[in-house]
Amino acid sequence: MDRTFVMVKPDGVQRGLVGDIVSRFEAKGLKMVGAKLELLPEERVTDQYREHLEKPFFPGLKQYIMSGPCFLMVWEGRNVVPIVRTIVGATNPAEAAPGSIRGDLALDIGRNVIHASDSPASADREIGIHFTPAELVDYTRIDESVLYE
Ligand code: UDP
Repeated sequence: MDRTFVMVKPDGVQRGLVGDIVSRFEAKGLKMVGAKLELLPEERVTDQYREHLEKPFFPGLKQYIMSGPCFLMVWEGRNVVPIVRTIVGATNPAEAAPGSIRGDLALDIGRNVIHASDSPASADREIGIHFTPAELVDYTRIDESVLYE
């Protein structure tokens, strides 16, 4: 099974959206295999967003991500990376489809509520930045036998 890294950003935590967001992934049939609430240290923010270090929005992005606790998760399922990106919606909430998390719950690209890995390689990398193997739990969801062909 594939895994992806998902993080409710500080605006999502402050606005009390964690429950709604977790419910959407649970209802889809995905399996949560790791979760924790954390104030992220600067090194992990810089590492996660290393491709954006030189972008003009990076200082503001770093300040935003470190402004309060984030809710970090690892989700598992077949094709989980593209499935979660679709549920999350476009980076700019103005372009995010209704029904997606950013389409329903966000207004501004700089306060877009949630992060999700954009490829299986980034997922592996980001899970490694934020979770130890011991923090990821191996178990079976009771409905797994009916969720997949
Ligand atoms: N971002 C921003 N301004 C921009 C582009 C990106 O503040 O013009 C922030 C936004 O929080 C976004 C994050 O940087 O989610 C990472 O950007 P990326 O293009 O990787 O989008 P994502 O993968 O989060 O959809």
